[in-house]
Amino acid sequence: MEIRFLGACGEVGRSAFLINDEVLLDYGIAPSDPPRYPIDGIRPKSVIISHGHLDHTGILPNLMDLNPEIFMTAVTRELAYLLGKDTLKIGERSGSQPFESADLQRMYTRAMLVDYRDEFDLADGYRATLFDAGHIPGSSLIHLSEAGAKGLSLLYTGDMKDTATRLLSGSDNHYPSADILLVESTYFGEKHPDRRELEKAFIESVRETLDLGGVAIIPCFAIGRTQEILTLLYQHGIDPVLDGMGIEVTRHFLAFPAFLRDVKTLEKAFGAATLIRRGRGRKKAIEGPSVIVTTAGMLNGGPAFYYLKKLHEDPSNKILLTGYQVEGTNGRTLLEHGYLDIDGRIFRPKMALEQYDFSAHLDDTGLKHLVRSMCDRGVEIVFPIHGEGTEDFARWIHEDIGCDAIAPTLGESIVVDLRP
Ligand SMILES: [Zn+2]
Repeated sequence: MEIRFLGACGEVGRSAFLINDEVLLDYGIAPSDPPRYPIDGIRPKSVIISHGHLDHTGILPNLMDLNPEIFMTAVTRELAYLLGKDTLKIGERSGSQPFESADLQRMYTRAMLVDYRDEFDLADGYRATLFDAGHIPGSSLIHLSEAGAKGLSLLYTGDMKDTATRLLSGSDNHYPSADILLVESTYFGEKHPDRRELEKAFIESVRETLDLGGVAIIPCFAIGRTQEILTLLYQHGIDPVLDGMGIEVTRHFLAFPAFLRDVKTLEKAFGAATLIRRGRGRKKAIEGPSVIVTTAGMLNGGPAFYYLKKLHEDPSNKILLTGYQVEGTNGRTLLEHGYLDIDGRIFRPKMALEQYDFSAHLDDTGLKHLVRSMCDRGVEIVFPIHGEGTEDFARWIHEDIGCDAIAPTLGESIVVDLRP
């Protein structure tokens, strides 16, 4: 089996892995400014998308000229479409479109919907199965097998979380073994805090800002994090203002209750929130005291810009980041250097800044446990991808488990031959 690593090598973003030039696993964008794309010029016959995040599906419409067969879960298709619409809208403003509206429509129509655990056939004799990855609704681990007695199998984790959150129940751990493992590495070397303590500290901080009459801005990824935070706030009697793409995404999630852990609570939380439509209500929201859940989660655009511009000078306001901040994003710059670049203007916020690890990924312990158990079950080579510490992870796998491991570099092509 030949694997070409088209992105997500030593970085989080633009996931894209091409198997034997025929099967593509994910085709995403790195959400920096300007965005970075995977290596192009490929001609896959089949595409499988692990989940509906921009860095895994964002540039898929660009391949529609090739008429590939496309597989994903039902929620992933809705999310991929929504993200595509957003990319087109941003492209209109910046004057550069990575694909056309017609491509996005074709992607939606061509996508074949797959249920978890149902094996399906691809062109040229490949077989694949998706398993719940517990990361966002519809997220999947992908198990892929080549045809023939000498064919190899591969497990790709996508993004994965094995423990429950308020939104999801955690991954389905009944996936089969494989010869090759592609494992995400986002949090290699980092431990997630205890979830209950994290939630407690977060809620206390939000209440503290409300008590001071300030505004708590909670930037959230539209997909997954918004709904997690919405549910958490609701269960603590706090009804926020909700702004940005998270509104539409929540509606999509509610339409697919089978993918959620507790649809009723999300429904109630969504009903209790004040929704901002076309910017109406924002002025009232910033008067405070208030809690505003808004996109973008890495402060790279969306209504968060409006709120930051209006509120940055008042130290009684607060920004509570709720997730990983990719290198090159405003969120990362703010954390590391204390400033924001909004449409070319530099802001140095006086408001308090906090970061909470509401991660929807495996942490160091989870990653190591996964790799160890998969190597015990027959995996012969591991490729850590989708993380900044993939080389260290590969070294750890080699030294501590004794399994072959390679941290691929961008554009690298590796042939795995285990059956001489
Ligand atoms: Zn993801």
